[in-house]
This record gives sequence, C-alpha cells and structure tokens, in this order.
Amino acid sequence: MRTETFPLTNASPGTSRTLTRHIWGAEGQRPKVYLQGALHADEMPGAITLWHLMELLDAAEGEGRLVGEVSVVPFANPIGLTQWVHNKPQGRQDLETMRNFNRYYPDLAALVGDGLETRLGDDPEENTRIIRAAFAEALAAVTPKSETDEMRIRLMQWSHDADIVLDLHCDHVALMHFYASSARPDLTDLLGRATGAKLALIEDISGGNAFDEAHSAPWTALRARYGERFPIPAACFSATVEYRGQNDVNDTLAQADAAGLITFLGAVGAVSGAPAPAYPPAPQRPLGGAGEAFAPQGGIVTWARAPGDEVTAGEAIAWVSDPVARRRMAVAAPATGLLFRRELWPNCLTGQSLCNVAGETILRQGNLLSD
Ligand SMILES: [Zn+2]
Repeated sequence: MRTETFPLTNASPGTSRTLTRHIWGAEGQRPKVYLQGALHADEMPGAITLWHLMELLDAAEGEGRLVGEVSVVPFANPIGLTQWVHNKPQGRQDLETMRNFNRYYPDLAALVGDGLETRLGDDPEENTRIIRAAFAEALAAVTPKSETDEMRIRLMQWSHDADIVLDLHCDHVALMHFYASSARPDLTDLLGRATGAKLALIEDISGGNAFDEAHSAPWTALRARYGERFPIPAACFSATVEYRGQNDVNDTLAQADAAGLITFLGAVGAVSGAPAPAYPPAPQRPLGGAGEAFAPQGGIVTWARAPGDEVTAGEAIAWVSDPVARRRMAVAAPATGLLFRRELWPNCLTGQSLCNVAGETILRQGNLLSD
C-alpha cells in the first residue's frame, strides 16, 4: 500500500486541510477501482466499511492477490467532517453555501468540449485512453472558486480514469441499496450479488451531477455526440451505495460489508482468490419510480410499516399525531412496491418528505434526488 495526500488551498489564514488516499496494487494496473466514503461527512457506515476493507486489501496485497489498482479515500470530505453545529454533525451541505457536497461535480463531457474531434479513431480501447487523458487535462485546467470546489476537482483527479467508482453513503433508516446508471447492467447485477444490496435504483441523469453520475454520464454524452463515427465504450461503471441507515455503524456489519466489496473486487478482476458472489441479485427499479410520501400535518411520526416491507399504494404506512389538536392522520403509501427508506426523525413539519417506496412505474421526472 502507498499513500498520497493533497493539501487543499487554505480557505482561511492559519487553517489547512488535506485529502488522503491509500492505494493498493501497482500504478496503472487495470482494472482501476476507486472507492470513497463520507463525502456526506455525517455518514459513517461506508467509512467504517472502508476501514475493514483496507485490512482485507492489506491481506490480499500481502498474499500477492492484487491484480488491479484499488484506491480508497476513506474520508472524502475533510471540510464537512469539521462541521459540527450545536453538538450535531452537519456533513451533508457545505455550511458556507448550504450546497450539497454530493452535487455540482464538473461535467467532464462539457469540459472536453470539441477537443476530441480530431483525436478519436476506430479503436475503442485507444479512444478510452484518449478520453481519459482529455478528462485529466480538462480537470487540471479548472481553476477552483472555493475550498469545496477544489475538493470536488481533486477527488475527480483521483477518480476520473477509474474503470469502477463506488461512492459509499448511507440513508436515514434504510435497506442497503444503490444508485447506478443503465450503462453497465452486467456490473449492476454483480454489485448486487456481491454486496447483498436489496435494491438498485437505475437512472442515467438524476439531476445535480452527483459524484457517481459525474463519472458515468460523460461516457454516455460522448457516445451520443461521437458514437456514430467513433466507438466509445461505457468505460466507467459508477454507483452510489447506501449502506443502510445513519446509525447502522458496527464492526460486525462493516466486516460483512467489506467482505462483500472484496467479493465485488474479485468479480471485476481487481483481486484474485476472492469468494464468488453469493447473494441474490438486487431487484432493479427506475429511480423515477421511487414514490415519496409527505407528512399530511406536523406532529409525531409512528410507523406501521418498516423498510423492507412490500406495500400497496394508498395503504396507511405511518401515522402523524398532532397532540394539540388531538388529530391523527394516516400517511398513505405513494406507490406499490418496496418501502426502502424513511426519515430518521420521529417528529415532522407539514409537507415534509417521510419515506420512499420503490415501484415499477415512473412517477417522477426531472430532478430526482433530494437535496
Ligand atoms: Zn450521502
């Protein structure tokens, strides 16, 4: 293993922050896999999974089983990690701008612009190399406007040329699930069977250019633009993996989840000697089919159903009690399908989002991610 650091430009006199990645395998070996945790800096399930994964990678390297190059950035967001407000971690949004740390990544296809016109040829592998080099040049040419902006660009300078990018997150109270594009159904299937995720939410453009999509969408965009003249593969599979809920942080779960990641790394050829994927495939649903239920009034939320339950559109899945008006109202399931996540807080304001149910029918379009 080797370690690289990148000091961020200090935003304020007397302060300094550093991005750190640990790397297993020889530089340039393929497949190149990039994993990061805690981009939302208040989400520790992915970060503790990476802690245990790093031990498994040490062992694999010690036994000569590292075939590809695996990068791990266990704490991708040193800015967010320091954001505690009134004794609570506030790691999802940048407190300076209240912008989500997992949005606004650079659009690599737009950044390379017309520059590929004269460089691409007939060989898809050569085109992949040319495009990755163009991404690197484009990222190097960006002048960051802020420390957070710089962090986004530096992370992508480490990840833009990876074959596989996994961004490890968690939800509030949830089943293990992940978000991926439709570009590589073979790897979507493998990721589910290796990790035991219970649901794959599929969408090509979710809105906001989250970290995972910033790696998969450019290949689709470039294929749409140049694909009739030059062969361009879907050269990066990326996914946001939600390691259950915010409080699902323990070594037993994390060791099992790290073993799932080693299984995945084995299945894609990054390590040898890993066990074969043994979980059933994760059911795939369109992200636009993830119906959202909203609070009919403010009050106390009690749940009749739990993440993991199959529910029917219209059935009462929770209650909101207003003890002042002495009125209790039902929360209706927004779709027929799998209740896969709900909010953490047992109190709510009128109109707040309370949970999501993954159905088969598209209910929503446009900007599909909550901020
Ligand atoms: Zn997150």
